[in-house]
Amino acid sequence: MKILTINCGSSSIKYQLFDMADESVLAKGLLERLGTEQVSLCHQAKGAVVQPSCSAEDHRDGLGLILASLVHRDYGVIERIEQIKAVGHRVVHGGEEFSGAVRIDPKVIRAIENCAQLAPLHNRPNLAGITAAQMALGSAVQVAVFDTAFHSTLKKVAFIYALPYEWYEQYGIRRYGFHGTSHQYVAASAAEMLGRPLNELNLITAHLGNGCSITAIRRGKSVDHSMGLTPAEGLVMGTRGGDMDPAIVFHLAANSDMSLEQINEALQHRSGLLGISGLSNDMRDIVQAGEDGQERARLALEIFVHRLKKYIGAYMALLGEVDGLVFTGGIGENSAVVRSKAVANLERFGLRLDGKANEAVAQGQAKEISAADSEVKILVIPTNEELLIARQTLALVGS
Ligand code: ADP
Repeated sequence: MKILTINCGSSSIKYQLFDMADESVLAKGLLERLGTEQVSLCHQAKGAVVQPSCSAEDHRDGLGLILASLVHRDYGVIERIEQIKAVGHRVVHGGEEFSGAVRIDPKVIRAIENCAQLAPLHNRPNLAGITAAQMALGSAVQVAVFDTAFHSTLKKVAFIYALPYEWYEQYGIRRYGFHGTSHQYVAASAAEMLGRPLNELNLITAHLGNGCSITAIRRGKSVDHSMGLTPAEGLVMGTRGGDMDPAIVFHLAANSDMSLEQINEALQHRSGLLGISGLSNDMRDIVQAGEDGQERARLALEIFVHRLKKYIGAYMALLGEVDGLVFTGGIGENSAVVRSKAVANLERFGLRLDGKANEAVAQGQAKEISAADSEVKILVIPTNEELLIARQTLALVGS
């Protein structure tokens, strides 16, 4: 069974074609800058990378280019597009409507449209991808996999903000949670690594990429999470600052010459590691600049880790007992310095790092990095959201 996964941004499409017989990736790629003169497609298949020249106005054209690459005479991996039996779409916001993946029908589309108010920058492109795939791959089963679904197990105590309760009822103001496919994937992998059933495990999973979030998992279920109504809350991220006093917005609106829109733009795109350092949103640059003596880069790293550590501590308190702490995402998987700072001096709480193992994690490797006597296992697990989307799609194909 061949399954295509699609992840649409406002001007991009990420894709992977899986052969689910052995979960191998036949081809994958990224189409960027849709609707501009500089559209680019980077297609990887059969051990080679090709960048065919192309033009595409919208997601429909873009998907056409991707499908043409998949069946291309030289670098294609299938003969006919009808061999793709199902398409798994990443959809960012499923609101309260969806607690798992679903086959897409007109009712599902309407529900995703309704959720678009909560995440317009994400759900609208996701819908464009769904429409394009329905047109181009009419016979394939279309499945939506939601970033929010894994957190549908949050109880009111974790998802209601301490604000007028009517705001929840009237406007849907609550914590939804994001990066759900990543947290769910690494939690399942952690259970495999620890050789125990997931529904017996308490875990803290930290997804640290451009966006960063952390989840408290009790007996396999998400019980608290750092992101909220939108992916802006919680940890320090590449360009988002995470937790802050809401009064800052009103103070700036009253006392600066910035409009609300400009303030929002700065909160989304000019804060976080970039905002503090004034240099970069990329952790590699931040670490390097800090080592080179740039004070604000050093400060950005310290603030990033300080916040992360606060959440680890909070979730340990919430869970009571913790079996494993998992690091994933580009930073979580690759930055030994972030991992070691995040768990430094937590021995009394049962976290003891094996410094050598931490330094020796190879790229793409899943590895235990805690000392043998650490009560809480510390794990590095590369995330694979596409594989989880493909697995959940496969599970629905027969239904
Ligand atoms: P996204 O959230 O967009 O999927 P990634 O999960 O790829 O992003 O994470 C991107 C982040 O990972 C960047 O901040 C980047 O600096 C960081 N990163 C990647 N490799 C390393 C590394 N070797 N050391 C430190 N940080 C790294």
